Parts: sequence; C-alpha cells; structure tokens
Amino acid sequence: MKRFVLIMIGAATILLAVMVVRTLRVPAPMASPVATTPVAGTSGTDARGDVTVDSALAATRLSGAVRFATVSTASGAPIDTAAFLGFHAFLEQAFPQVHRTLRREKIAGLSLIYTWVGRDTLAAPVVIMGHMDVVPVPTPNLKDWTHGPFSGDVAEGYVWGRGTLDDKTTVLASLEAVEGLLARGYQPPRTVYLTFGHDEEVGGRYGARAMVDTLVARGVKPALVLDEGGIMSSGLVPGVRGRAAVVGIAEKGYVSLRLRATASGGHSSMPGMRTAVGALSHAITALETNPFPYSIDGPTRGMIDAMAPYVSFTQRLALANLWLTESVVIKLLKAAPSTAALMHTTTAPTMLSAGIKDNVLPPEASAVVNFRIRPGETVATVTARVRAVINDTLMAIEPIDSVQVDPSPVSDTQSPAYQLIAATIRAMAPGESIPVLPYLVVGGTDAKYWGPHSTKVYRFLPIPMGDGDFTRIHGLNERLAVADYAKAVGFFSRLLGGLDALK
Ligand SMILES: [Zn+2]
Repeated sequence: MKRFVLIMIGAATILLAVMVVRTLRVPAPMASPVATTPVAGTSGTDARGDVTVDSALAATRLSGAVRFATVSTASGAPIDTAAFLGFHAFLEQAFPQVHRTLRREKIAGLSLIYTWVGRDTLAAPVVIMGHMDVVPVPTPNLKDWTHGPFSGDVAEGYVWGRGTLDDKTTVLASLEAVEGLLARGYQPPRTVYLTFGHDEEVGGRYGARAMVDTLVARGVKPALVLDEGGIMSSGLVPGVRGRAAVVGIAEKGYVSLRLRATASGGHSSMPGMRTAVGALSHAITALETNPFPYSIDGPTRGMIDAMAPYVSFTQRLALANLWLTESVVIKLLKAAPSTAALMHTTTAPTMLSAGIKDNVLPPEASAVVNFRIRPGETVATVTARVRAVINDTLMAIEPIDSVQVDPSPVSDTQSPAYQLIAATIRAMAPGESIPVLPYLVVGGTDAKYWGPHSTKVYRFLPIPMGDGDFTRIHGLNERLAVADYAKAVGFFSRLLGGLDALK
C-alpha cells in the first residue's frame, strides 16, 4: 500500500513538473515598438519614417463618403446604381493623385479594382480588399440616431454614419494612404491591387467573386491579401487583460439548409399520428441537442497558443497543457456564444413557416437552418451529418439558394505576410505590448473568394474598437473617432510603405 502511495505521489509530481515546464516554455510577450516602424520612401526630412496624417482632412473625406447611401438589401435585389456611381465620382475628386497614377477598372458594373504598378512587376502582388456597400437602416430606428446614418456629420470628435466601422473606412483609409505615399514619390516594390466590392453585405456573389476571378485569370498569385474580419479591442479574448488584436487566418464555411416536413393535411379535429409541424419540431430539436463536436484545433489552437504569454500563470498552465486540459478549456469557452463558435460548426434555426389557419393541418412545414462550418468540415459533410441526425422519412433536406461555401484554407502565421501585418498592428499602439492573435473568422467576408486560390489571405480591420462599438456595427449610431480613423490611415501607410519586408 505504502509503495502504491509513493508511486502515485511520484507520478503526480512528474505530471506537475511536466505541466510547469511546458508552461515556463511559453515565450515572453512580444514587445511593441517604442517608436513606430519606418516607412519606405520616406527618407531625408522624414528620417524616422513616422507617418503623419492630417486627421481633420482625412475625416472630411470619410464624412463625404458616408453621404452616399450605397445600401445593399438582398443579393440580386435592385441596387441604387446612382449612389454607387456618385460614390465612384466622389473618390475620383477626393483622391486626384490616386486617379492619375493608378489604373481603375469597373468590374461587374459597380465594383472597383485599382492597380498600382510596382517597381518589380514580376514580384507577387498585394491585394487590399474593402467594400463600398453598407447595410440598410430600419426606418423605425432612424429617429434614434444622434446624427443621421448618411449625414456624415463630423461632431463630438467622431465621423457619424453607416460605413464608418463597416467598411467604407477600409476603402477611404487605403486610398488616403496611397494618396499620401504618392505625394512622397513612393512606388511600391511590388504591384498593389485595391479591390472594392459593391455587394459584400449580401454575400459578394457579384462584386468580390468577379474581381477575384478577374485577377486569377490574369495570373495574379498574391503574396498577401488583406480584408476586413479581425479587430483590435479590449475584452476580446477571455483571460487577456487590456487590448488584443485578432487577425483572421481562416473563415468559416456557410450553408443554409431547408428542412421540409410533409404529412397529410386536413381537418385539425382528426390529426394523424404524425403531423408536419411535429416532425419539423422534432428535427430542429434533434439538431440542437446533437451539436457539432467541439475541439480546439486549427486557427483556434493557434489563437490559444499565441495568447498564452499574455494570461495569468494559472491560465497559462491550462493553455500550455491542452493535452491534459482541453476538455476543461472547451467547457469554459463554450459558455459564451462568441467563443463557442470558434470551436465547432454552429447550428442556427433562422426561419420557420407552416400553417394558414388555426383549424387546418398544414400538409407542409419548413424551416431554414444556417450552419457556419469550421475548417475540417465541408458543406457536404455537414449536410450528411444533418441528414443522419434527423433521420426521418417525413423530412426532406435541401440547401437553399444562397451562398454555399466550404471553409477557407488556413493561412500561415509564420509567413512574411502575417509577420508584416502583425508588426504593422503593433505599430498602431507604440509602447503597448498588444497581443496579436490568429483567429477563425466566424462570419463571412469577401475574402472567402480568394480561398480556393491563395493561402496568404488575412483579415483585419485597423480600427481600435472601443466599448459599445460592436453593437454599432450594422447597428445604431455607427461612428468612428476622428483620431482612430487617422490610425487606420497610418496602418495602411505603414503596410503599403513597408512592403519591402515581404521579400
Ligand atoms: Zn463589412
């Protein structure tokens, strides 16, 4: 017995030692630069290479952009063409240097590709993606906006309106950066494409897809693609105090399935053993009680590994020893929908339809369930599992006519492209040791169309988000601080001015 106890104590000691050693081997936090990183093409007078942005002037241009109601309502629905064409004309007038030097093409009628020819036309190019369209504002909410959603008012230190957080800021800030770099006589070492879609908010099936197809047909194999998708904010990841930045290195897939139950209709006084509504309810319950399995792998594993240096020792002990603690960590992360979504394919019943009268049995009942597919699964495997879980002869299961896309490939975090983006993010917060974490984008972006063609696709919106900003995206009182917009311009200036690092 004594011998057994000694063996157990010995085993526990070894286990603890292994855990502690693994924890101590977690690298130290990455320091942010004390000053900002140099920008190519800024020699002589600007020897430190710091980026100077005329924030008031930049804000005026962003404000002008917001005034065009470039709204997307539904894929294939009528578009306010005049608003988009007006916006195009506005860009031309706001950024004269850009329009003198870069080639602009209209793709799919309303999307724009700008080509900035680099010094080395054989080097792999860089693609910056953004979108010009915005979501609509429900009429009953109009009265609750402090400043109108398309006013573009610059007031209380903010630019107000739709698109300031999503995603006219990317369009305007990247153009603003190019305009500034051109003024300094800068030409990028490799070709840069700015691609701005007109239907991202409804899936990008016409704009982004056509632009990607166009560039792919021209043989473009990017060294870096950057789209919106990741953000910088505090309270982003549990355990990390202060601000963190997440960079999307993969994007979930997407499919919506219609579940249709058919049974005999007739008078509600004599229902059969099984009804359409009953079968449908049963099917939805079956899906919700059998969620897709959870695991910490792929981009989410990358995020956990990258955040380990920034959490408390106890938390680090858990994160550095997932071989032992994975189930506990999963349980903790499952508690919030935002972190649960990082670990599995989600199941969301979104639409329901059945019946026309209280005393008539509907012969058909249907629901739409939306699935966001994690890397490792596909539209086909998800559909097959849904059929297996429901397993009911009364039920038919078919995808609806909407975007159907497999998860993107996972982009490399060791690549020069990722390292450049991470360094540029750290330069946004000099003196602050800001964790830059890879991340699985759970929503959808236009970047998904690059998925089949490139593994150098990253997603980050360079705006420091403050408290309450998340609810303003697609929500009420969308706005961006003038000072934060200047940081977004600085980000693109440093990124595009620092492309020599991609070698
Ligand atoms: Zn967006």
